[in-house]
Amino acid sequence: MSTLQELELAAGKPKEVYGEDAKIVCDNLVRIYKTDGIEVQALQGLDLLVRGGELVAIVGASGSGKSTLLNILSGLDTPTAGVARVGGFDLLTMKGRDRLRYRRETVGFIWQQTARNLLPYLNAADNVALPMGFAGKKRRFAKRRADELLEMLGVAYCAGRRPGQMSGGEQQRVSIAVALANDPEVVFADEPTGELDSGTSQQVFDALRTANAELGVSIVVVTHDHEVTDQVQRTVEIRDGRTSTEVLRRGEHGGPAEQFAVLDRAGRVQLPREYIDDLRMRDRVRLTKDPDHIGVWPDLGSESREGE
Ligand code: ADP
Ligand code: MG
Repeated sequence: MSTLQELELAAGKPKEVYGEDAKIVCDNLVRIYKTDGIEVQALQGLDLLVRGGELVAIVGASGSGKSTLLNILSGLDTPTAGVARVGGFDLLTMKGRDRLRYRRETVGFIWQQTARNLLPYLNAADNVALPMGFAGKKRRFAKRRADELLEMLGVAYCAGRRPGQMSGGEQQRVSIAVALANDPEVVFADEPTGELDSGTSQQVFDALRTANAELGVSIVVVTHDHEVTDQVQRTVEIRDGRTSTEVLRRGEHGGPAEQFAVLDRAGRVQLPREYIDDLRMRDRVRLTKDPDHIGVWPDLGSESREGE
């Protein structure tokens, strides 16, 4: 019997596949980079579930593993260990032809560098039509869909312009249209507003929200912009290659924020740094179990011993 099964039996849970009904499943995801004999653990057992139609913001310090995660989920990089599944594709075992189809039809991608998203010698409409051509769509269909997407994202007036004739914000909104061209199940955006000022960032973010609301496509967006995280229902923080805390806002236009911690299958929880610091918790905390919650207390015993 595997350890996993033992754990599930011990927890008295019915056997089910983790994240069976989720659009994105990361379970204990690990990515180790090796360069010149030096190992960097970019992802150290990351857990994440995203449901179909969700818009999730991912935040975290530089170097915490956000781009590594998005590169894996978009099929550009392969994980070292763990589980990563998107829309039924297993990203660990996926090979050549499937990988190509996955990247072309299941997911869309928007990079931070505006120049990386669009071909400089094609106008906006042709940039959006291009991936549809690769997927074998008819020219007339592609042209019509490109116009519709540009219209939906508020950049129809840019249809005939090349990237060099558009602002950074306009280019990123056209890039969203390119990402949506083949009607993907998920769109990934890695700091798409990183090079933009805050007013323009807002327009790009509004475009992502429109795409999510109108098309029901799941969107995972990495952002540094904390104002933006006020506008999404779910913000996940990555710390040291693991998902640590989540902020959820329930209700239509984002109710009050509630903070959550990720509970992994081994029962591990990472407490928010500011809570730990405020309560001067260290090394060990005292736990109490109440009928409906668990209390976490500073270990005052050790502090008074220290003071002696
Ligand atoms: P973020 O996007 O959150 O800033 P990254 O995912 O880019 O973080 O990087 C996570 C860690 O992995 C960092 O320590 C980074 O230096 C390292 N890293 C990322 N890509 C590579 C690579 N191709 N080779 C070696 N180390 C890498
Ligand atoms: Mg990054």
